[in-house]
Amino acid sequence: MTALWREDAEEDDVLAVYQYMIDTGQAWRMEGHVGRTAMHLIESGLCVLGVDGHRDYWGNYVPGRFEVKAGTKGSPEFAHERTCGSQHQPGQRCPFGAGETIQ
Ligand SMILES: [Zn+2]
Repeated sequence: MTALWREDAEEDDVLAVYQYMIDTGQAWRMEGHVGRTAMHLIESGLCVLGVDGHRDYWGNYVPGRFEVKAGTKGSPEFAHERTCGSQHQPGQRCPFGAGETIQ
């Protein structure tokens, strides 16, 4: 995991930048490293898919976070479970937007 980050960048800042590029679709329009890293972060539950779907560099459709099944890769519930499940209190809003499903 640490190999993903530049030494001088805060992990949270890097995640925020990647989440922004995913949300806007920029991450998918770039070839190579950025898109692969974005996909890795989504698979790790550190980022979620964008609100809307996007087309990637090759024209493949990347679904939005509400177009995938709740609890599967890229959904708010998936990221919540892996990343912040025990870190915020019931009733507190989930940064991934999984608030409605917090028990
Ligand atoms: Zn959460």
